[in-house]
Order: sequence, then C-alpha cells, then structure tokens
Amino acid sequence: MCDSHACPLTDVRTKLVFGAGNANADLMFVGEAPGASEDQQGLPFVGRAGQLLNQCLGEVGLQRSDVFITNVICCRPPGNRDPLPEEIDACKPYLYKKIELIEPKVICTLGNFATKLLTGNPTGITKVHGRPQQREVAGRIVQLFPLFHPAAALRTDAVKQLLREDFAKLPALLAEHTEEEAVEAGDIEQLGLFQ
Ligand code: URA
Repeated sequence: MCDSHACPLTDVRTKLVFGAGNANADLMFVGEAPGASEDQQGLPFVGRAGQLLNQCLGEVGLQRSDVFITNVICCRPPGNRDPLPEEIDACKPYLYKKIELIEPKVICTLGNFATKLLTGNPTGITKVHGRPQQREVAGRIVQLFPLFHPAAALRTDAVKQLLREDFAKLPALLAEHTEEEAVEAGDIEQLGLFQ
C-alpha cells in the first residue's frame, strides 16, 4: 500500500487512511486528505466535516455503511496544508485501484482536489458542483458528481445549503444508473425494484 512507496508524508503522518465503508457500494465519495482526527483514527471523515457528511447522507436515507469513503491522498499533510502535486501523483494509483475494485456507478468528488483530479479538468467546484459528468475513470465509465467539500460548507452557510441541495439529487442519480445497468444486463427482476 501507500506505505511502501516514496511519498514524503509517510514519515509525518500518524496513521494511514486507506478508506472505509462498503466495498460493494454503488456510491463512492472521494475527499481531499485526512485531517487531524482521521490521522489519529486511521479512518476517513471522522471529524467535524465527517459529521456533516453523515448528516447529509442521512437526509437522503443513506448511511456510511451503504457507501465507500476515501480521499485523494491517504496521509495527512502537516498542518492540513493542501496536498502537493507529487503527493497526489504518488497516491493516485491507489485511488484508481480502489475505484477499479469497488466498481462504483456514481463517484461524488468532494471539493476541488478530488474534482479536478477525477474530471481531468481544472474548472473549480463552484462552477461544476451539482451536475453529473460521465467520465472514464480507472478504465470504467462512471458518473462523477462534484459536491462542495463539507469543510467548506462548515465555514459558510450558503455553501452548506448548496451542499444539501446537491445531495438531494443523489437518490435519483443513483437510481438512474443502477436502472441503466439492470437494463443492460437484461435483469427484469431487478428492474421491478424501480417501478
Ligand atoms: N477532509 C477530507 O478531505 N478528508 C477527510 O477524511 C477528512 C476531512
């Protein structure tokens, strides 16, 4: 894992934060980098931003155990500074491998770092949030759904409102893409679930 490669953060972090949740999830969240609480516990989104993420999930009838949550990089940058390009590059293969193994249908990118990396486009989150983009990621076609980062939502009420409005679109997006897959697979029984 990330322990074995030449990422400089290996020496300064407490625990590596691989990701957590349902390895068969249709829905995956990709944040930026572990913060202080995540670094202590070795789990993603367990601090204040994580509490808001849990709340947003709950508002659309989801729990953490329904989804898989990870980050662009696995180790906390000192003082929560932005991840450096070489740190992102070093961790990128592991993120892509997680996507390849979990095979999500929808990936919510939380904030600018995850959104720019996975869309392959430098346009910032303020312009692209709340609108799904079909992309090839790790050799698979997925719907990327850019969302504001919960930490940004904690700082500004208007951003929190937008985050909640975007979250409200998730159930329909998920149903659409699960249904699409069922049609492709000719799975009539599964289709009945969506009527
Ligand atoms: N912010 C992130 O981007 N990821 C975490 O795991 C926690 C806070």
